[in-house]
Amino acid sequence: MTVENRKPRINIEKMSEWLNARIKTNECPFCKQTRWEAINGTAFVGCAIPYGDGRGEMYLGGYPVLPLICTTCNFVRNIALTSEVLEQVLEDEQIATQ
Ligand SMILES: [Zn+2]
Repeated sequence: MTVENRKPRINIEKMSEWLNARIKTNECPFCKQTRWEAINGTAFVGCAIPYGDGRGEMYLGGYPVLPLICTTCNFVRNIALTSEVLEQVLEDEQIATQ
């Protein structure tokens, strides 16, 4: 059986251009190095910060983000994937066949 699975994908080079046009420094605030990796590896589909009610109940949905990790001290920074960002950094839909 063949299943087509369409997934939007973040173009990491477009994401880098978007980010670099808005930031003053790419330094990690703790160790001052400038190398960051996206935890999604080659997929770059982003992650989500789960929504909750503040009392421990979590929901299935969440706020979309792209986590970047400092390659020296492992500090994690999240870039919010707002609709404005997604309009500029998403690639055409990929078709994955399994
Ligand atoms: Zn660091």
